[in-house]
Order: sequence, then structure tokens, then C-alpha cells
Amino acid sequence: MAGRNFLFVPGPTNTPDRILRAMHVAMEDHRSSDFPKLAAPVLENLKKIFKTAAGQPYIFPASGTGAWEASLSNTLSPGDRVLAARFGMFSHLWIDMAQRLGLKVDVIETEWGEGAPIERYHEALAADKGHQIKAVLITHNETATGVTSDVAGLRKALDDAKHPALLMVDGVSSIASIDFRMDEWGVDCAVTGSQKGLMLPAGLGIVAVSQKAAARYDQATLPRVFFDFGDMRKANATGYFPYTPSLSLLYGLRESLAMLFEEGLDNVFARHHRLAEGARAAVKAWGLDLCAREPRWYSDTVSAVMVPSGINAAEIIDIAYRRYNLALGAGLARMAGRLFRIGHLGDLNECMLLGGLAGAEMAMRDAGIKLTPGSGVGAAEEYWRGTAAPLEKRELPPRAPDAQPAAPAAKGKATAGAAR
Ligand SMILES: *Cc1c(COP(=O)(O)O)cnc(C)c1O
Repeated sequence: MAGRNFLFVPGPTNTPDRILRAMHVAMEDHRSSDFPKLAAPVLENLKKIFKTAAGQPYIFPASGTGAWEASLSNTLSPGDRVLAARFGMFSHLWIDMAQRLGLKVDVIETEWGEGAPIERYHEALAADKGHQIKAVLITHNETATGVTSDVAGLRKALDDAKHPALLMVDGVSSIASIDFRMDEWGVDCAVTGSQKGLMLPAGLGIVAVSQKAAARYDQATLPRVFFDFGDMRKANATGYFPYTPSLSLLYGLRESLAMLFEEGLDNVFARHHRLAEGARAAVKAWGLDLCAREPRWYSDTVSAVMVPSGINAAEIIDIAYRRYNLALGAGLARMAGRLFRIGHLGDLNECMLLGGLAGAEMAMRDAGIKLTPGSGVGAAEEYWRGTAAPLEKRELPPRAPDAQPAAPAAKGKATAGAAR
């Protein structure tokens, strides 16, 4: 199919050409004396993405799921209790992993579409006088429902209950797109992957570890080998990895960090917010609801759009893909067919997102949803026009005079085009 594929799933996201070029490298010896010049600054600069000074980021050749596992297996022991809310597919999968690793999970069941219930976390922590709960898990941005939760609020709940449990945060679809403050929020393990806000292909699982979490490593007896923090720490200390790192992705990550710092993290967050507001204006103009129940939970990286009953969202996604070369995200598990997701994170601007919204509009109409053509696109356009940064004045070439009425033609001469 001619033209670009419009990639609007919430990960993988678009990889900028600059990053693609940076990754296009011949392979090198990862044990050479030059290698630390690549690895060491990347590890150091990653700290700024997590907003941590005291924490240590580790990069595994894995995906976000691997970084989940690294967090749990390096800090906990079989039978340890952990506390976690389940309110979407990703929070579910992390809980499922914890259970399969042999941890006892106290699950706070929460409606899909709501954020993590901070009060219920607080109740459970306050009731745990013996401090049996060793870790508290929260999914910062639940990508399945388009819901962002209050990590700072959960830190406060831990502090109010004077509870020493580790705070582990899944930031796979928030970090580098939505403000995340590891040190300020007292996060002990912060998890992300390469293929969302970092605009890279999948292939890196990244976890930043606080000193408090690192101190649990020695007592923690869950088995870990590939994901062992100790091996990683030792090798990273001299700028190396304990096994073959993904060289191309490290070059890509270096470029991605450079791009994020050039734009400025706060500007990156503001851009995501503004793009998301435009997408939400479109959804409202379509007369549809978001899965996220309240504005305080609206995600700036993904909008999950509920479709009217009687319509199968899978059909919208299929039409969008096959007819318009547009990839939208599917509803997962109990949301299958009931919603589709528009990922608006990473390397994205207004006109790109308008393309995604226009394609979604066409596919929805094709699938039988009655909405006014252009309504969502128009609402997003107007929101973005109304919130655009003012332009500096620039000298422009003047407009040419309007065409004058053609002079009476001389006999025998052609007149058409005379004014040109
Ligand atoms: C994408 C995602 C994951 C899973 O990451 P993989 O890289 O697919 O392993 C985990 N959590 C959240 C919130 C995500 O969005």
C-alpha cells in the first residue's frame, strides 16, 4: 500500500528517522576499551528520564515484561506478600507474573476505567501492622484503559501508614511521556521499555532501582539469573554488560535521550498533554465516551474509546488497518470489541494525530457508527489552533496583486494565459 502506515497503537510507537539512522551501525566488540564511552553516558543520562539522582538504572535486552520480572526477583523472596490493584490488562499481567514467581499477591480489584484506588491501598497498608507486605505495585499508566494513576498519592499512603514496603511502579507507557519523579515520589523500582515514550523498537527492558531496593537484594531469594541486578551492577560499574548488550538499541537510546533533552522533558510532557486534549476533544465531538471514567485519570499517552453497543470495535480496527493503513489499538480481555485505543505518544505532532483521528472517523462510519464526518477532526483542529504557541513575526514576500481584467485582445492573438 502506498504512503506511510499510520501507527497509532500505544506501543511500539513511531521511531524518528534520526534514531533509525543512529541505530544503523556495524556491530562492534562490546568488550572493547571504547565501549564504555557509549554505555556509561547512556546509563548516566537515563537517570534524568526517571528523575533520580540516587537511583541506578539497569538496561536489559528484554522488553518491559523483563523489567517487571527483574524488579520482583531481585528484591523479594518466595511467599512474600505484595499489594497490587488490578484495573486493566497490564496491572493484571504484572500481578499474574508475581503469582507465578511464587509471591502472595493481595489484589485490590478495581473497575476497569478507574485509576488505582489510593484509599484502598492505604487501608490495606494501615491494617498490615506486622509489615508482612514487602512491596506495593502500581501501574502508573494503564495502557489497556487509558488511565493514569496517582503515584505521589500512593507514596503518601505508604508514608501515612509508616509502612516500609517497596514502591514498584510500572511506567512503561508513561516514562518519557508523562511526568515521572522517581526520587520525589520515593519510587523503589521504576520499570519501562524502549518501544513507547523512548521511541525505539522493542528490545530494552529498563528498571531504575533505589538504594532502598538495592539494599533488599542480598536477602531476596527469588531465583534470578539473566535479570540479576548484582551481575549488572558489577559490569555496569566499568561501563560494560554481563552479556552481549543490544548494541543498535544502545545507539538508538543515546539518540533518543539526546532528542528528549533537546526538546526538554517538560516540553515533551506538555506536548503529550496538548495532543491528548485534542484527541479527547475529538472523542467528545464524536459523541463517544472514554473508558477512563473521570478526567483526573485521563491518560496523556493513550485514549481508549468505547464504541456503542451493537458495534464490534474489532471491526473498526480491521477496517482502519486494511482500508486506510491505520493501526489502532485493540480492546484487551474484558474490553475486547468494546473499545479501540488511539496511542498518542512518542514522536508525534498535530498533523500526524489528525491523520489518525481522520482514519478512525472513516473506519467508525464504515463500521456503522453514526457520527458527523469531520466532527472529531474539526474539534481537535480547533483545540490545537486555540492553544498553539504564538509565532514570532517574520518578514514574508508580499502577496502579488490580484489578476487585472485582461486587456482587449489584439486581433489574431491568443488571449488565454495573457495575464500569466
Ligand atoms: C507495553 C506495556 C507493558 C509491557 O511491555 P512489553 O514491552 O510488551 O513487555 C507493561 N506495562 C505497560 C503499562 C505497558 O504499556
